[in-house]
Amino acid sequence: MPAVSQLWDEETDVVVVGYGGAGAAAAISSHDAGAKVVILEKDEGGGNTQLATRTFLCPINTAAAREHIRALSFGTVEEETLDAFIEWCSRNVEFIRELGGEVEICPPGPTFPKLQGAEAMVRYRVKGTRGEPGGEALWRLLSQNVERRGIKLRRQTAAKKLVRAEDSVVGVAAEMAGKRHTIGARRAVVLSTGGFEYNEWLKRQFLSGYPIYAFGHTGNRGDGIKLAQELGAELWHMKSLAAPMGFKFPEWEAAFIMRMPASGFIIVDQAGKRFCNETGLEHYSMWMEVSRFDSERLRYSRIPSYLIFDEKTRLSGPVTTIGHGRNRAYQWSSDNSTELEKGWIQSGRDAAELAGKLSIESAREFENTLATYRETCRKGRDEDFGRSKETLVELEAPLYGVPLWPCLLNTQGGPKRNSRGEIMDVWGNPIKRLYGAGELGSIWGFLYQSGGNLGECLASGRMAGFHAASEHPLQD
Ligand SMILES: Cc1cc2nc3c(=O)[nH]c(=O)nc-3n(C[C@H](O)[C@H](O)[C@H](O)COP(=O)(O)OP(=O)(O)OC[C@H]3O[C@@H](n4cnc5c(N)ncnc54)[C@H](O)[C@@H]3O)c2cc1C
Repeated sequence: MPAVSQLWDEETDVVVVGYGGAGAAAAISSHDAGAKVVILEKDEGGGNTQLATRTFLCPINTAAAREHIRALSFGTVEEETLDAFIEWCSRNVEFIRELGGEVEICPPGPTFPKLQGAEAMVRYRVKGTRGEPGGEALWRLLSQNVERRGIKLRRQTAAKKLVRAEDSVVGVAAEMAGKRHTIGARRAVVLSTGGFEYNEWLKRQFLSGYPIYAFGHTGNRGDGIKLAQELGAELWHMKSLAAPMGFKFPEWEAAFIMRMPASGFIIVDQAGKRFCNETGLEHYSMWMEVSRFDSERLRYSRIPSYLIFDEKTRLSGPVTTIGHGRNRAYQWSSDNSTELEKGWIQSGRDAAELAGKLSIESAREFENTLATYRETCRKGRDEDFGRSKETLVELEAPLYGVPLWPCLLNTQGGPKRNSRGEIMDVWGNPIKRLYGAGELGSIWGFLYQSGGNLGECLASGRMAGFHAASEHPLQD
């Protein structure tokens, strides 16, 4: 057993790095298992968890759930790890109730209802008191429970390096108020630093399509990946993500999610052509529709694409969801008029004028697209893309348009974990006394089930925190 031989600025049993949902759950679970805990958070805390929209997953613990999640994972998760995840995740509601929260079921549950075992995918939200989004209500409950337990929280403290003695992780070197601050961990360190939504290098290296923007916490830059990589961690799920489409404006670092208030809209590529069933896209996998690379012209011809809508749709409501994500404080106008004035939305008296303003390459192609779409609406049958009849609504000039980009709700990649939440090295061995939780090295290896990230925060956070607390303490 190695000694904690360093001179630390402070010492504890378990250090949790990153104070979002996973970090909070890990801290609570470690504390309740008898460990002293210190949380390091580089910002104020809450991360993407606080900005989340609605639900957390609490699957029914059955063979059906296993079959379903196994299919979503596409062979990227070992059976033992999958079993442990379902075991902990299926007790999420119980955990929320233990913390004093109330929950309600959120239909519909499964994101892929046609896949076998879909009935086991049940989602809940923590009931709020002020009509707030589910992430906000969940975060309040978790952070109140952290405070109530007197768990030490070091805000504005970024972990910079994991300290290892012999073959065990024994502490963290951090930067606190511009100064180095070291913390010894007698039992273990839990990494829960979230995703890499704002790390351009990692996005370029691992994701399909570029640029990809993000809706969430701007502090999530993949720090935990580097911390773990330095100790030889195996990475997994680096190309897995959930990314609907959204709008990106220079004044805001984060993006605004696209949410159409009416069916009078289409999406076209840079040549002005439709390329998908706009109203039938699977929300989390929209990025797959636009990541096609044009190898003749050497570019992603659908990044950006263009959202095109008409006056009736403009007046029906905001073209985004208000009140969640990083930009939740922004008050989008109810008829999109302010955003039109700002130049975020472009307008055209006809197709040619709009094509010019949006830099669509061929105004003629765009006009043809609109003419074909009009015919499609009149026929009531979309032979090209299978859009459903009731959503085939003709567009009347004036027309409006906004560039559309794939935008991340999450990245799932990071250090690989085993069935106890330990981080694995490249040779398949656990890195001793190093655990991971949440979106950093998530279980979701390919397709994403709605509520899966918050569900995983609660489950993997508790699991990692519990096992970290059960490590035999190192001696001074
Ligand atoms: C708009 C939006 C809506 C969403 N809606 C849902 C939903 O309804 N259901 C669902 O399941 N999922 C949803 N998600 C995804 C979900 O919110 C996240 O996957 C989840 O909250 C991640 O939790 P986490 O604890 O792993 O990371 P986070 O909550 O992001 O926390 C990570 C924390 O680590 C900190 N950190 C980073 N680096 C360091 C460092 N070096 N040192 C110290 N601290 C560090 C960050 O500042 C951050 O506070 C949504 C995401 C977004 C953006």
